[in-house]
Amino acid sequence: MPETGTVAFLGLGHMGGPMAVNLVRAGYAVVAFDVVPVAVQAAREHGVPVAASAAGAVAEADVVLTMFPSGGHVLDAYRGNAGQPGLLAAAPPGTMFLDCSTINVDEAREAARLAGEAGHRSVDAPVSGGVVGAEAATLTFMAGGEAQDFESVRPLLEVMGKRVVHCGGHGAGQAAKICNNLILGVSMIAVSEAFVLGEKLGLSHQALFDVASAASGQCWALTTNCPVPGPVPASPANRDYQPGFAAALMAKDLNLAVNALNSTGVAGQMGALAARIYDTFAAEGGAGRDFSAIITDIRGSAEPAAADTTAAATGTDATGRSRTTAAHDDGSPE
Ligand code: NAD
Repeated sequence: MPETGTVAFLGLGHMGGPMAVNLVRAGYAVVAFDVVPVAVQAAREHGVPVAASAAGAVAEADVVLTMFPSGGHVLDAYRGNAGQPGLLAAAPPGTMFLDCSTINVDEAREAARLAGEAGHRSVDAPVSGGVVGAEAATLTFMAGGEAQDFESVRPLLEVMGKRVVHCGGHGAGQAAKICNNLILGVSMIAVSEAFVLGEKLGLSHQALFDVASAASGQCWALTTNCPVPGPVPASPANRDYQPGFAAALMAKDLNLAVNALNSTGVAGQMGALAARIYDTFAAEGGAGRDFSAIITDIRGSAEPAAADTTAAATGTDATGRSRTTAAHDDGSPE
């Protein structure tokens, strides 16, 4: 039996549902809850014990693990609202509050302050790896909090993930997550612009990939999540941009990064621009597509130019395929 004791697992959505299942399979005593009945039902069907209320789930908890959509949800649940007691009041003294949601750094620090004030301990531990990682227990956890508190939850995190990194004090996990995703969002746009420019210049996708993947343009957005089909067979571009990592989540994380840029006074122009680009893409129908589908937007916005001679003259695109089918690699009718 794991030493952690009882884990109250709140938030049984796309991520939390499979994470809770993995804890149960590893022998943890889990009591779960979600405000949405269908999520509760799905958890129950996967063998996760469920409480009738949030207060009931945390009443005898040693760890309260939250996996919520936003920082507002976390802070509301901690404090309580509309006459409902908050989780901080309902949990036994000295409970570990472990928030794995992706939220603002400032909100994570506020959550830690509230937990401390209520006599509890806390760690922020957002994840990367998506639903596939949640199901396969291969998530990466980026944790912030006191070293001894982090060590106390490390075994729990290692059940749900393959990589667990202590990044520093409260909020440092969220900081690491949004800094990484700022790099990712900007680099995916840059890689996509380069492929569309290459198409216009008569460069095949494979040729650009072969050069850039072994040169200074090399990055994850190119070599793992390549936004054009072909060079990386497992990338979402090869399956009509099924996520993967949905553009709506990229937009969310970039906006968290922008909030942090603003609150710290960092003049991060590329991050702010990337946030606007993904906001627009998500609002205009791209929300549920993999974030690499941003290339379809860039390609769709490209104007025919006089220099576009190769494709215009031959009736083929840079990959040599017919222009009618090549205009959108994903086949979408933009
Ligand atoms: P989701 O919307 O599928 O699940 C969130 C769940 O929290 C919902 O079922 C909701 O009903 C529940 N919830 C909200 N308030 C609650 C409360 N007070 N008590 C109990 N349950 C409550 O979201 P998700 O995709 O599972 O993502 C969860 C978090 O993980 C988000 O912060 C997201 O940014 C982050 N994340 C998601 C992914 C991904 O690929 N989905 C990847 C990395 C990180």
